[in-house]
Amino acid sequence: MSEKPIYVTRPHLPPLSEFIPYLESIWASGMLSNGGPMHRQLEQALGDYLGVNHVALVANGTIGLITALQALRISGEVITTPYSFVATAHALLWNGLRPVFADVEPGSFNLDPMRIEAAITPATTAIMPVHCYGNPCAVEAIERIADRHGLKVIYDAAHAFGVRHRGQSVLGHGDLSVLSFHATKAFHTFEGGAIVCPDAATKSYIDQLKNFGIVDETTVATAGINGKMSEINAAFGLLELQHIEGALARRRAIDHLYRELLANAPGIVCPPVAAGSEGNCSYFPILVNEQRQQDRDALYHLLKQHEIYARRYFYPLISDLPMYRDLPSASPEHLPEASRLARTVLCLPIYPALTDADVERIAGLIANTR
Ligand SMILES: *Cc1c(COP(=O)(O)O)cnc(C)c1O
Repeated sequence: MSEKPIYVTRPHLPPLSEFIPYLESIWASGMLSNGGPMHRQLEQALGDYLGVNHVALVANGTIGLITALQALRISGEVITTPYSFVATAHALLWNGLRPVFADVEPGSFNLDPMRIEAAITPATTAIMPVHCYGNPCAVEAIERIADRHGLKVIYDAAHAFGVRHRGQSVLGHGDLSVLSFHATKAFHTFEGGAIVCPDAATKSYIDQLKNFGIVDETTVATAGINGKMSEINAAFGLLELQHIEGALARRRAIDHLYRELLANAPGIVCPPVAAGSEGNCSYFPILVNEQRQQDRDALYHLLKQHEIYARRYFYPLISDLPMYRDLPSASPEHLPEASRLARTVLCLPIYPALTDADVERIAGLIANTR
């Protein structure tokens, strides 16, 4: 095999020379963390780019989810999706909350509003949906349910950087939205994340929580945590933001090419992004259906033999993991759609440096087998 291995993602890195001036500026300021100039500039720049007013940077998406739940003083039960990365549910356990899994919608990868409503009990205080693969959730329906039952909504928006819904940022929905800037995400700062807040007071409270609960030299108002983003990560974010349009455009081109090349592939479905929405092409999920002799795992292994490392996101379901599977809501019979997706979805490689020739080779292997 002559070609290099292809992984599902590869972080975007601008030329190293472009990062040097940022490092020189940090060295000159002597500010390495604690809301220095890079941190302030990135919060401002992200707010402008994303079209939201109040952004609180954090050290990573998981600490962002944990802090968001703390900020809203969530207690008892939280309804969430089993079809996500483990951090979604882990953030609940780290707050001593009880996850209640509801099934996803048949046509999307996201929580089904009807299932959310059916899962509400007197102990429910919040809903934590995920905009899976950057597909916006049924935000209006979720808002109506939350209003009707007096629940908070915290979106795990780890996949939703730059995603728009009906012409506006999807990050404006819910009480809080949490982004991840991990190296594998569409926009990254090596490690990092952000909480999108509805107003200045909420941002200021979250800024306090992420800095140990410190108010001033002699006042510690709450039992906060260390969730701060360092200046070096923030500086990288500023540089990465200069390149984001090109990176997203390349992702869109790859997405189009896959769709064209896989249009007639036997038993392969490329689900479209919801109507009225603009995704970010951060993932390229395909569904491997019954019309194919070769099932999803067989296709996964075939690609692997060619050193193409597609990923079975999200398999296993969170609800099947040892720390969750004994919950009553975790039984597979209760989660038929999520269980079906976990068996049939394969995420194909997509990242800015992937070439058209790579995409043609990957799609060719899928389209020419059955
Ligand atoms: C990546 C991810 C997270 C965690 O983000 P980190 O920045 O890696 O802590 C949370 N939820 C989802 C859905 C993710 O994909």
